[in-house]
Amino acid sequence: MKVGLIDVDSHNFPNLCLMKLSEYHTRRGDRVEWWSPKGHYDLVYKSRVFTDTYSRDNITVTNADQVIQGGTGYGPGGKDLPYEIEHIRPDYFLYPRFLGAAYGFLSRGCPRNCGFCIVSGKEGRRSVKVADLFEFWRGEDEIKLLDPNLLACPDHEALLEQLADSRALVDFTQGLDIRLTSPDNISLLNKV
Ligand code: SF4
Repeated sequence: MKVGLIDVDSHNFPNLCLMKLSEYHTRRGDRVEWWSPKGHYDLVYKSRVFTDTYSRDNITVTNADQVIQGGTGYGPGGKDLPYEIEHIRPDYFLYPRFLGAAYGFLSRGCPRNCGFCIVSGKEGRRSVKVADLFEFWRGEDEIKLLDPNLLACPDHEALLEQLADSRALVDFTQGLDIRLTSPDNISLLNKV
């Protein structure tokens, strides 16, 4: 099967969903490549992170048997990735310029429900552990953590210990909720 990938708007950040789809199809023996308007595809995925406020989808695919589009940018109600794809190690070679860092989520959801933010509505109003670090990290020097509110997760101390044990440089890309800091978790953060 020939599979095409379209990263609609994340040009300065790797699209984790497409990285997982690439790995999944590659392991199946499918031919995976960035979509081109030339040629024909059995399946094309379009992934869009941002809504019209920040990006536009001007891409029309007419050369595929099937087109699947997903992501927050297409509005609420979209399907999640199947479990076996959500938890696969991403294909880091899809974005060579970002090689050397591991990207992923250890937790999802947030209890804050800030009015401007889609996380609580999309992922739930509590933070839950979704993975251990080894699921997406294999010794890279840098970890780009995408968790919306790690400190709200009941398992965050064990997850912070995993991050500390990695000895990698950790970028908490979504920040840390200062209202949930405590002497215990600050002590753990100091080890990361
Ligand atoms: S992820 Fe951040 S911005 Fe979004 S609801 Fe939680 S605290 Fe608010």
